[in-house]
Amino acid sequence: MGYSDWKELASDALNLFDGVKNPELREKVNQMREIMLVLKEENISLKEENSELQRQLNDKDEMIPEGKYYVKKDDHGEIIGRFCSGCHDDKKKKIRLHAGGVTGWWDCPICKTSVTDSTYVEPNYDGNIGNGWMAS
Ligand SMILES: [Zn+2]
Repeated sequence: MGYSDWKELASDALNLFDGVKNPELREKVNQMREIMLVLKEENISLKEENSELQRQLNDKDEMIPEGKYYVKKDDHGEIIGRFCSGCHDDKKKKIRLHAGGVTGWWDCPICKTSVTDSTYVEPNYDGNIGNGWMAS
């Protein structure tokens, strides 16, 4: 009979030992059962830890460099957040950029850096220089 993993093998062996009368052997078998339970619990917690790390890894991968900041995108490729590249690259912190009140202008609340993206338009003074108090 073949075994797909060690747990099946151990369980089968333990069942065979059930008919044994030797008290010392039975004690050893019971100790093996306890160790198996501990291993099983460790296995579960390692799997949980592993999936948490996997989740963090995926999370990290979602930070996409775009222009002067990082973005996170949803499954449809829509930007769902912009993050400070300085804080991320220097301190590994994900700091969400705040809209600066002007289209395409973004402020980091932590390092106070301001960045602009491709949608930013330089203010146009519309040739008003010279139309102030000196104009006659
Ligand atoms: Zn920052």
